[in-house]
Amino acid sequence: MNVELILLALAPVFVLCIGIEAWYWRGRRPGLYSLKDTLSNATLALMHQGADKLAWLLVVPFYAWLYEHHRLYTMPAGWLGLLLLFIVQDFLYYVFHRASHRIRWLWAAHVVHHSSERLNLSTAFRQSLMYPVAGMWLFWTPMALIGFTPAQIVGVVLLNLAFQFFVHTQAIPKLGWLEYVLNTPSIHRAHHARNPRYIDRNYAGVLVIWDRLFGSYVEESDTEPCEYGIVDPIHTHNPITLTFHEWRAMARDAVTLPGWRNKWMALFGPPEWRYAWQAAASRSMETETETETGSVGTATAGGDAHGMGRTQKPL
Ligand SMILES: [Zn+2]
Ligand SMILES: [Zn+2]
Repeated sequence: MNVELILLALAPVFVLCIGIEAWYWRGRRPGLYSLKDTLSNATLALMHQGADKLAWLLVVPFYAWLYEHHRLYTMPAGWLGLLLLFIVQDFLYYVFHRASHRIRWLWAAHVVHHSSERLNLSTAFRQSLMYPVAGMWLFWTPMALIGFTPAQIVGVVLLNLAFQFFVHTQAIPKLGWLEYVLNTPSIHRAHHARNPRYIDRNYAGVLVIWDRLFGSYVEESDTEPCEYGIVDPIHTHNPITLTFHEWRAMARDAVTLPGWRNKWMALFGPPEWRYAWQAAASRSMETETETETGSVGTATAGGDAHGMGRTQKPL
C-alpha cells in the first residue's frame, strides 16, 4: 500500500467514530455537534489531503535525495529501528507543534485547527492546506539525515496524525497512569482551550513525555472547564476564510508596518506580537504628545513584545 494514503484509508473508521460520538451526544449535549461546523471541518480535511498529496510529490524525492547522498547513519532494521523511528518523529512533532504556536508564520497555518469553539472528533479533521507552504515538511528532514527512508518518514508522520484523531473528544475522562505517558483526550482538551492557564501548553503528538520534560504540560482542571477556540475568534464556517485569514493579516502587517525589524516580527515573531506592537504604538503616540522622555516608535514596540507573558497572549 502507498503510505501516503494511510489517512484516506482510515477515513471510514474516522467517519464511523464521528457518527457514534454525534449520536452519543445527541440527547446529552445537543450543541456539541453542529452540521455547519462538521461540514466545514470535513471540507478542510479534504482540502488538506489534496495539498498534502501534492506536497509529498515534491518532498518525498527531496527526502530520498537526502537519504541516498547525505545520511549520517543507517538505522537498524527490525523492532529497534521502528522504535527509534516512532520516538524521533514524535519528538520532532512536539518541536513542530510548539513552533506552530510560537512563530506566526507557522501559526498562520495551524490556527485553522484551533479556530472552532467546539471540540469533538470532527475537530481533528480541521486542518490547513497551507502546511506545506508553512514548511511542516522541513521538520522531518533530520529523519532522512539520520537514516530513515522516505516511506518510513511519511508512514510514521501520518500514523502520528491518525492517533491524534482519537484525542479530540469530550466523551472520555482522564485515563489514570496513561496521562503520564500518552497524549490523552484530557491533555488535548487543555491544548485546545483558550483560558489563560491552558494557552500554549500540551503540544504532544503521541507521547506526553516531551511536555513533561520541557515544561509545557498543564493538567485539565476540574474547577476550570476548557473554553475552546482562539482568543481572537473568527466567526465563520467558510473553509477559504478559515484557511487564509491569518495569512492575509500577516501579509498586511508585513507590508504596512514600518521598519525591517517590525516586518520580520510580523512574520516570524510570536503570534501575539502584533497586539503588543499596537499597544506600544498607541502608548508612544500618547507619550509623544506629552513630550515625556524614553523610547518611542518601533523600539518601544519591540521591547514590549519581549515582555509579553503567555497569559496575556491573545491568540
Ligand atoms: Zn495546536
Ligand atoms: Zn487538536
